[in-house]
Amino acid sequence: MSVSDKEKANKAGPVLPQILQQRLLAWYDQNARPLPWRRDTNPYHVWISEIMLQQTGVEVVKAYYARFLEAFPTIEALAEADEQKVLKLWEGLGYYSRARNLMKTARIIDREYGGRFPDTYEEILRLPGVGTYTAGAIASICFNLPVPAVDGNVVRVVARIAGIDEEVTESVKKRMTASLKMVYPPDRCGDFTQSLMDLGAVVCIPNGAPKCPQCPAADICTANRDGSALSLPVKGRKQAKKQQELTVFLLCCGDNIALRRRESGGLLAGLWELPNVPGILNETGAAALAAQWGVKPRALIKALRRGHVFTHIRWDMLCYVIECASQPPSFTWVSREQLSDTFALPTAFKKLIDAT
Ligand code: SF4
Repeated sequence: MSVSDKEKANKAGPVLPQILQQRLLAWYDQNARPLPWRRDTNPYHVWISEIMLQQTGVEVVKAYYARFLEAFPTIEALAEADEQKVLKLWEGLGYYSRARNLMKTARIIDREYGGRFPDTYEEILRLPGVGTYTAGAIASICFNLPVPAVDGNVVRVVARIAGIDEEVTESVKKRMTASLKMVYPPDRCGDFTQSLMDLGAVVCIPNGAPKCPQCPAADICTANRDGSALSLPVKGRKQAKKQQELTVFLLCCGDNIALRRRESGGLLAGLWELPNVPGILNETGAAALAAQWGVKPRALIKALRRGHVFTHIRWDMLCYVIECASQPPSFTWVSREQLSDTFALPTAFKKLIDAT
């Protein structure tokens, strides 16, 4: 640990006790979660798992992780992959920019590093879609570098152990990172990173009371001592989600459904979608719009109302399910089988199809 790191950490207030490393490592040896990417220091595998875990829970990720590595067992295979195949494998995980960044990064590693994953924190951090948390996880787990991976779980653990009662801003997170660096065990950096992740996931849990009697840090934890765990970490006020109303058209012709591509920027960029327009149209307005698209409705089968929540926005969708007499060429018409095998459709639209 450099002098400047120590100075930075000291500015954060309480420094984490050195004994934390022995406590957490001993606990981790007995209690590590048996995850498929555990005890695996292959940076390709750790990278894929960490990108999937960025916005998705562990249980969901397990199946996606196995399927993804089966389809693309190496960085080279991913670098050469067809984008639609990657997006199809990503279907249901959401935040599709992660999948696109994986492809971009695989090509960079293939081209610029000869297929070898970069092994310094700075190089890893420069890869598309990789932030400080993911870079820290890969650097410590795969290359035994003393770089913390500070996500929500780790923030909670550190804030409680060190009794940090100020709002967790980016600068507080930086100071937490510097404090943690000071207690990294030089020979087991990856295990220490993962012990913090696991402690935050199963003992010092995000919702409800922490399980302090089971915690290896109970006797050195400020929050346990002064009973402040439930008020830490101090979070900023969440911004309310924006609401957006959409009228969606599920146009069916025999077994085929009309799809179109989304624009190349913004939410769900470039993915397939059911035709839709902003706002809520009544049946007359919807019929008029369908006619403009060249659709000859045979019957309005039903109208469905569904919501879908993204990180910053909530869609309130009214979907008209329309049986059509023909297949206007302004759309791509795909069978349900093709839809399930080949076309990646975001969950927001998939749930409308599944409801019919
Ligand atoms: S003692 Fe309790 S509050 Fe402190 S780190 Fe452990 S589980 Fe969290």
